[in-house]
Amino acid sequence: MARVPRRRSAPLTYDPSNVFARILRGEIPAQFLHEDEHCVAFRDVAPQAPTHFLVVPRKPLSMLADAGDADAAALGHLLLVAARVARQLGVADDGFRVVVNNGAGAGQTVFHLHVHVLAGRPMAWPPG
Ligand code: AMP
Repeated sequence: MARVPRRRSAPLTYDPSNVFARILRGEIPAQFLHEDEHCVAFRDVAPQAPTHFLVVPRKPLSMLADAGDADAAALGHLLLVAARVARQLGVADDGFRVVVNNGAGAGQTVFHLHVHVLAGRPMAWPPG
């Protein structure tokens, strides 16, 4: 039986006043752990684990679902940086969790795509 394609909601209009855009522009401070031409990583201001940092692409995408085929390499880069920074912080060997909240229904509160990296405590499954 043919599968009916699910309708994808329209991309959210990117709001350049969001807090991560302001951090990327240097308008507000952050505790940076990594910076390159494609992304930055900085500590989360309200950590949910002993180690909690965010990897944020410089490209203004509101959320993961707004990324397209042209973003494949950039998305892969975010994960490689997540693992690299986790190793640099010495938390990789004991395990770390990578989370992307996509949309308000999944808990996204800042509408600039970002990858959470959490480590330093046991992680429950399934996540809440
Ligand atoms: P999400 O709920 O997935 O959109 O995650 C947004 C994250 O951004 C939360 O974990 C917040 O604690 C974090 N956050 C918000 N403002 C800042 C800030 N100024 N610096 C660092 N992290 C922030």
